[in-house]
Amino acid sequence: MRTWRILENAAFNYDPSADYISDPSCIIGPISVTCEHCEAKKWIGEAPGMCCNGGKVQLPRLMDPPESLRTLLIGDSAEVKHFLNNIRRYNSCFQMTSFSTTKEIRESGYMPTFKVQGQIYHRIGSLYSLANAEPKFLQIYFVGDSAEQAEQRCKNLPQTRQDIVLQLQGMQDHHNCYVQSFKSALNLKW
Ligand SMILES: [Zn+2]
Repeated sequence: MRTWRILENAAFNYDPSADYISDPSCIIGPISVTCEHCEAKKWIGEAPGMCCNGGKVQLPRLMDPPESLRTLLIGDSAEVKHFLNNIRRYNSCFQMTSFSTTKEIRESGYMPTFKVQGQIYHRIGSLYSLANAEPKFLQIYFVGDSAEQAEQRCKNLPQTRQDIVLQLQGMQDHHNCYVQSFKSALNLKW
């Protein structure tokens, strides 16, 4: 583990090889409290109702992630390190929508802040890419075959590996109900 030296904006630049845990500013004690309702593990300073509102909110138990994601998260191999270092890029590879706004206000002198007023809508554009435009977001799910989709995702997100994207695509096809319903909506064979 490398010593954590660059503290400024560290929250935006997570480095899995940095030794955050032994830095004094990160030592907040052990996670020693277990909620009697949902068995969430918490720090001593966290409010009792923060996890499940005293048992009022009942969530299904978290399951192990499916393969290939599980293999990519556990272990010490070069592939796992590469995946964890680029996990946001891999996450972006599979995004279906994007977030946009009709109005942007910039306030000088402050860190960028994200405020939403009114109603949020999920807007899905054309399922096929426009002429002379690269397929992006949801459109990639409808491009050619698996290999072509993986190639397009890696083209849109540099520093991602096509073999890993292919593995994750296969996982999504089998486990992600949104991917499955979009594909069946277009009667595509996959
Ligand atoms: Zn709880």
